[in-house]
Amino acid sequence: MKFCSKCAGLMTNVEEKGKKYLKCSKCGHKEEMKKEKMVLKEEIIEDSSKKLIVFKKGEELEQFPTTKITCPKCMNDEAYWWIQQTRSSDEPPTIFYKCKKCSYTWRVYG
Ligand SMILES: [Zn+2]
Ligand SMILES: [Zn+2]
Repeated sequence: MKFCSKCAGLMTNVEEKGKKYLKCSKCGHKEEMKKEKMVLKEEIIEDSSKKLIVFKKGEELEQFPTTKITCPKCMNDEAYWWIQQTRSSDEPPTIFYKCKKCSYTWRVYG
């Protein structure tokens, strides 16, 4: 609801010659209706799985997420994983896995 800026009366929607106005029911004061601006927000939703995690040597492995995957070496079923983007961003990223048990690291091409 909108109130008249002049007399604080209640404004009502009126349409004149295709234009929309707010008209005061008390004093007849007219206000042009402001068009609601459509705000287009550009949102880049990044898939968390595509997040670039750069693995550095000696980094605490605990910060990497773990997943249920069978280690090809010791058959342990849990491994840390991270994604590394290859030189060209056009190429799919490479997923690395590191076995929690034997520390064997292997990669899977996305
Ligand atoms: Zn008024
Ligand atoms: Zn293993």
